[in-house]
Amino acid sequence: MHTAFQGISFRLAKVTVVLAFFLGISMTGLQLYMDFLAQSDTLDVLAKRVSKVIEPPATRAVHTLDDDLSLEVVNSLLAYDFVYDVVINDELGNALASGSKPVAKSSTSWLTQIFLNESKTYYTELLTPEYGRGVVGQVVFKVDVNNALADFYARSYVVLLSGVIRNFILSFLLFFAFYKILAKPLIKMNKEVLSINPEHPGDSRLSLPHLKDDNELKELGVSINHLLNVVEDFYTKRVKVENDLRESEGTIRTMINELPAMVVARDADGFILFSNYRFSSFCGKEIDEISGKNIFDLEFLYNGQDQLRDQLKDNTSRLDTEDYYIEGYFGSYSGEKTFLQVRSNLVTIYGKKAYLIVMYDISDLKSVEERMTYMAYHDTLTGLPNRPHLVERLENEIIRARRHKYCGAVLFIDLDHFKTVNDSLGHPVGDELLRQVAQRLNLGVREEDLVSRLSGDEFVVVLTVLGDDFDKACLSASEVAEKLRESISLPYQHGDINLHISCSIGVKIYSDEITTAEEILRFADTAMYQVKNHGRNAIEFFNEEMSNKVNKQLILEGELHKAHKNKEFVLFFQPKYEAKTQEIVGAEALIRWFHPERGMVPPGEFIGHLESIGLMSDVGYWIVEEGCKAIRKIEQAGHWRDGMRLSINISPKQLLDNKFVTGVQEILEKNPIPANSFDFEVTESVAIGSIDNAIDIMNELIKLGISFSLDDFGTGYSSISYLKKLPVENLKVDYSFVRDIVVDFSDRVLVETIITMGQMLGLKVVAEGVETEEQLKILDAFGCDYYQGFYFARPLPMDDFLGLISSNNSEEK
Ligand code: C2E
Ligand code: MG
Ligand code: MG
Repeated sequence: MHTAFQGISFRLAKVTVVLAFFLGISMTGLQLYMDFLAQSDTLDVLAKRVSKVIEPPATRAVHTLDDDLSLEVVNSLLAYDFVYDVVINDELGNALASGSKPVAKSSTSWLTQIFLNESKTYYTELLTPEYGRGVVGQVVFKVDVNNALADFYARSYVVLLSGVIRNFILSFLLFFAFYKILAKPLIKMNKEVLSINPEHPGDSRLSLPHLKDDNELKELGVSINHLLNVVEDFYTKRVKVENDLRESEGTIRTMINELPAMVVARDADGFILFSNYRFSSFCGKEIDEISGKNIFDLEFLYNGQDQLRDQLKDNTSRLDTEDYYIEGYFGSYSGEKTFLQVRSNLVTIYGKKAYLIVMYDISDLKSVEERMTYMAYHDTLTGLPNRPHLVERLENEIIRARRHKYCGAVLFIDLDHFKTVNDSLGHPVGDELLRQVAQRLNLGVREEDLVSRLSGDEFVVVLTVLGDDFDKACLSASEVAEKLRESISLPYQHGDINLHISCSIGVKIYSDEITTAEEILRFADTAMYQVKNHGRNAIEFFNEEMSNKVNKQLILEGELHKAHKNKEFVLFFQPKYEAKTQEIVGAEALIRWFHPERGMVPPGEFIGHLESIGLMSDVGYWIVEEGCKAIRKIEQAGHWRDGMRLSINISPKQLLDNKFVTGVQEILEKNPIPANSFDFEVTESVAIGSIDNAIDIMNELIKLGISFSLDDFGTGYSSISYLKKLPVENLKVDYSFVRDIVVDFSDRVLVETIITMGQMLGLKVVAEGVETEEQLKILDAFGCDYYQGFYFARPLPMDDFLGLISSNNSEEK
């Protein structure tokens, strides 16, 4: 803070005073100098006057040589203060009288010396008027100039002193005036400005000087106040924006915390920028404790699996600019293993590159998937590999045998009269027996062989690598088959009862011929049926005669061509019921073949052949077209309601055909039907080749208003991954599970799992093959959405279907 003497007013006063002082001094000096010169002239005039006064008496004294008078004259002259030495001389220059007095020293002598002589001598000639004005003598007197100027000096001193005093007073007055007018308001203004918070002035403003007229200070004050208004306005807006931001940040934070996922953001080096509550509690910490930590240092997360962490690190460094996705078992702080789906996206947070990681705990889904995968490949009763597993393994074995030129054998084993055991002793006993048979079969073969259960009481054993000699392979196969037959025939202990059961075994040797697993199984099955026909409990090899039977299939395939031409195919309709309302909400179109001699042939007997002879595509288009006609018919009868769907089974080959989408589109253009009326049923096998291709085709069809159902779920791969990816709306539980749901605990568990899992994934679940009220009750308890089955209605011709829908849904009309 400046003192008043550093202030602007003091400086202004100082400058003014210095200027005034120099100007005053110079002017006064000049004035005095002029006066001084004038004083010198005055002295001469004075000396002349004195000379005039003393001239007569002095003349007389000289003339008369009167010493006394001379002395009187001398003394009268010395009576002047400024005269200090007088001599009166006669005409010859002799001194008649003289006198002097000491010259008083004065403080101004130096000044006089500078400008004049200290002493000045005057000569007065003494003339006698009577004698022709001759010179009779002379008076010489010396004047002390300094003394003569004493008055002048005294006056000048006063003038000088008053000048200084005047300047001093002037400077004080100027200082006061400047201070009052300029400095004080400025200091006040400055104090006020300093007292205001520059970031948030609030109501504080400068008090303006009370001046009538505007001046620069007032204008400065107004300008500062205006500036403060702007700052305050800006501050208010900023505070509002900050509050809004804080509020929206709070909302976003709450939303992030409420998300059913763990969210964490980290910087490029792995340091956590923020996380949500779920993530912090997964780490057993508070949110604040987590931020700033390095995610790669959270050891428990990786559950001791450095590989997982490295993978995460690797991914991030390699895919620095890309988003990535991994799945794996992570550990929580308590050491619990959790299966997480981790998605990391590159984002910009506060202008810096960061990664937003979202983790979903999909442990439940994962364990269901693992269970489903196991169930999909294993028979739940015996734990043996099931049909899909067998087919997959057998395909590989066939390829290996062909490549390495050796033989293998397939033993198709069917228990004799097993149904009797079930019927007489009950299913639990039957199940126990099947488990023991499975054990005995496993014990009777080598580790590299495969024992599987196809269904019910059918088992298949694959004997791999039986050598390259066909005859020896036949011998080995028959020995093993015999050993197995004997082992199965041994009694089974059940409580007090000894049970006996035999089996029929069909054998097919495979070697280097080009064949498929299905074909070999069919041959072995044929051989097994031959044993049954010949009285059971024996072994038979597939032979020539049996191959004739196979030939019959070729005949069938020939007939199918004719059937298509002769329009022997018909569509039947099986209604689909909504569980809640018991209303018919759609139907499944099922193909029937009216054979001229054999009568109605079910699709199970010919669909596969239609595929293998390449007719499925043509027949498939015919079915879609017939489906359109059926919908029109139901609509015209007034029974088609919004939301109803007609389901059509589409085989994988059909769906994956390049021309399928355009084919369907053309049919829909030719046969206009209400929007969104079709539902296509596909099985998981559509996804086997290329799931992306299947998804693309399905999405194209979805654009045409067609929905999708996943048919026969549980019999194939039962992959949750397919289920998640394929764009299906419904999941159909295969009727083979529904069939035994009342008696078979494992089927019941499986159906419940499928329903729960389907609903978890947002799908509607349809149970097909519902035949009894007990089955319905169980399915109802599991929360199944739709039903289909003989309990409600069998597949019906169109007219019968129309009758049924009109009576069932009548209240709605
Ligand atoms: P899917 O699609 O699973 O059809 C359901 C099958 O279960 C039908 O057999 C139906 O009659 C039968 N079903 C319905 N309710 C019950 C019941 O309560 N108990 C029993 N035991 N069975 C019941 P269907 O008509 O013999 O068809 C068999 C399979 O043939 C179908 O299985 C489907 O995969 C195929 N299929 C049928 N029609 C067509 C078609 O038009 N095109 C194609 N590509 N395949 C078809
Ligand atoms: Mg179906
Ligand atoms: Mg089905």
